Amino acid sequence: METAFAEVLETLRPLADKKSQTLSQHAENGLNVRADATRFKQVLMNLVGNAIKFSPEGGDIGLAACLIDGKVCVEVRDTGPGIPLEEQKRIFEKFYRLRQSEKSTEGTGLGLAITQKLVELHGGELGLESQPGHGSRFYFSLPMAPAPRERPAQETGSVSKTSGSPRILVIEDDPATAQLIELQLISSGYEVVVCDQPHRAAEIAEGLQPSAITLDLLMKPTDGWEVLVQLKRDPRTASIPVIVITIADQPAMGAILGADDYLVKPVDKMDLLAAMERCLGTRVVQPARSILVVEDDAAAREFITELLTAQGHTVTTAADGAQARAQVGTALPKLVILDLLLPKLSGFELLAEWRASPRTADLPVFVLTSKDLSREEETYLRAHAERLFHKQQPWQEALASEVRRVVSSGQMENA
Ligand code: ADP
Repeated sequence: METAFAEVLETLRPLADKKSQTLSQHAENGLNVRADATRFKQVLMNLVGNAIKFSPEGGDIGLAACLIDGKVCVEVRDTGPGIPLEEQKRIFEKFYRLRQSEKSTEGTGLGLAITQKLVELHGGELGLESQPGHGSRFYFSLPMAPAPRERPAQETGSVSKTSGSPRILVIEDDPATAQLIELQLISSGYEVVVCDQPHRAAEIAEGLQPSAITLDLLMKPTDGWEVLVQLKRDPRTASIPVIVITIADQPAMGAILGADDYLVKPVDKMDLLAAMERCLGTRVVQPARSILVVEDDAAAREFITELLTAQGHTVTTAADGAQARAQVGTALPKLVILDLLLPKLSGFELLAEWRASPRTADLPVFVLTSKDLSREEETYLRAHAERLFHKQQPWQEALASEVRRVVSSGQMENA
């Protein structure tokens, strides 16, 4: 607990210093929560980050933990503007932001929605006490961990491999969409069970033990986020891959809550099948770690693939930013060759996203581009990518030798 507090405060201290705010912490000795360390820190980062963001210059922000009724109660207090009672429920909604006219405090309104889900995922509930003008106090309780170790990773209710086609549970309350997904899957050899009652979805998944689940997000009465939390919280269903399908474009939130892949409606059959294969593939056999080539130009993609396979590497490809994001989300490649100008999501956005997440912060990325870079862009890339190659100059040999060097210098070589 002390370590998590210290890490979070250390990361955020420069922001607080800028506003001459004081950050303090107090944790009773020997407290350990039963939680995923990364996600627990993320919860703290979001709450302390908000406290800094919304408190004025010179404010006090405190992080504390104590034991109450056998549970660890964690709180983040600030001396900021506070939150009016009528707004207190709504700020946990997705995209909700107070004082939207204020330009000085940027944000998406997603932070608290994600934070709340993460806390729920660990069996707690996020609470708030606040009075306008007197600051805010966000708090939650989590079960105490028996030993100073993280939750054991192995709790798989190991599923017996059924012979025949993989069974997919399609959770979707709109009959037309359900039928479409069902057809797409059946025509590709999958067995499909449709569940149109989201409130029963978790129970059905538990009984059925499907190979994968597709999950619509906007359903009634239980929304898909709730179902996702239920599925990932229950050890009997936590390891079943979930492909989230929705009209809302919020992959970040999906990934944080444990979705294995993410598709935006209308779902293209090829995308669905590719996502399904990724999910099932990673589950059944752990594939050799490959080099991911992200390139929208088919000829260039093929050329790079050939160059690398000739060197004995396993190569996977993505033709746009969304595919690249999904692939990296599913299985971490040993290296990414990244074009910058891509449909759906640019290479810059991908790189920023990967660097922001602890899971991909160290993922080696080679940028290969024909874009004329501004000074800022070049500086950014030099800081965040391992190598930068310009397509206007001869790059083939340099790329091949750098790939060899980076891949063999790491411990990531595979058979
Ligand atoms: P974002 O910070 O991206 O706007 P959040 O979901 O984190 O989104 O917060 C939603 C809204 O709740 C914020 O826009 C802000 O108005 C309010 N809020 C959150 N934390 C605090 C706080 N500590 N003090 C005052 N207002 C807050």
